Amino acid sequence: MFYAIKNGEKIRPLPDATATCPFCYGKVIACTGEIKSWYWRHERGQHSDCISYQYEAETEWHYTWKSLFPKAWAEVRCEENGKIMIADVKFPNGLVLEIQHSPISPQKIKERQTFHRNVVWLFDATGPMQNSQIGYHKKIEWIQPRETMKFANEPVFIDVGFTADRAKHEVLALTDIRTGFYTKKIYNEKTDDFYRVKAYMGPCKILGIKEFTAKLRALDKKLKKGNEENHSQPKQKKDRGSGQLSFFSH
Ligand SMILES: [Zn+2]
Repeated sequence: MFYAIKNGEKIRPLPDATATCPFCYGKVIACTGEIKSWYWRHERGQHSDCISYQYEAETEWHYTWKSLFPKAWAEVRCEENGKIMIADVKFPNGLVLEIQHSPISPQKIKERQTFHRNVVWLFDATGPMQNSQIGYHKKIEWIQPRETMKFANEPVFIDVGFTADRAKHEVLALTDIRTGFYTKKIYNEKTDDFYRVKAYMGPCKILGIKEFTAKLRALDKKLKKGNEENHSQPKQKKDRGSGQLSFFSH
């Protein structure tokens, strides 16, 4: 966990500090080692049923992304009908950015999309990029892609990290995620034979970090407009979870 509560304020860890978990209100302890970004964890053996337990000791990748947004927007407690969930980043008008490093089931993707309603996914693809499993220009080809992507709202955003010359950190918007999966034959020199792997190919739009975060803010602003229109025309109000957000209206 990147943030905890002390004296009513959301704070980052400091050496020897303790604070309160924003989700279960249990005690959390600052972990301030020399290698990883500082984070909060629950006391050993305590509050293992807290929803934030799975967020303890997240990767540097998570922290880097969360630190790009105002702290009020990061790790937001969302409660509805007695159910509590954490939004990785929640924008002022309700857009939620889910920052996903580890594998996630289609069920969990659907569950979060239904709960938060307007979700944008950012998947970590920096590993596959470094392993040369990804190539992109106007299209992306991804060998052994994250297949659960096809259950996420489009466009799916993937973080490919820095370009080879480290000049730019790029995010790709994948706009045709439902149809791009196929099986690729790859030649193996050693065995003089082909083997089959899963692959994905589809159009992609390259965004710098600033462009990506600006895009998210713009999408969130559209939600505000949508909310206002819904309030003024209650008869035409859409069902929840029906996707109020049009990602493609650019
Ligand atoms: Zn907790």
